[in-house]
Amino acid sequence: MEQDDALVRDVFPDLIDELVSLLEVEGENELAICVRDVRLVAMCDCGDDFCQSIHTAVHPEGQPYGEGHRCVPLLPSKGMLVLDVVYGRIMYIEVLHRPPMHDHRSLLPSAPTQPEA
Ligand SMILES: [Zn+2]
Repeated sequence: MEQDDALVRDVFPDLIDELVSLLEVEGENELAICVRDVRLVAMCDCGDDFCQSIHTAVHPEGQPYGEGHRCVPLLPSKGMLVLDVVYGRIMYIEVLHRPPMHDHRSLLPSAPTQPEA
């Protein structure tokens, strides 16, 4: 259920802020808008300790993206950030050799607990 996935901007707001400014620098203004609304479908499970990549769309594993695919490499101050885009839709955010990202959901105040009945 894609609509139930968290927005990446709620989980890793710093990453999204950085992506927006890097995309604007590259003149990718449409992607700079789209990236604010991408959802965290899954974290990459390749197991490489330098990899914190994020799946932002459901895509069969190991399949090429095919027609309409392009790579958008960005120039962050640290590590590598690359977007995989298919017909303007952000499918995957490659996050490589970057400092550990913290899941901001764990920092949010938890929902008030219901009193025991
Ligand atoms: Zn990975």
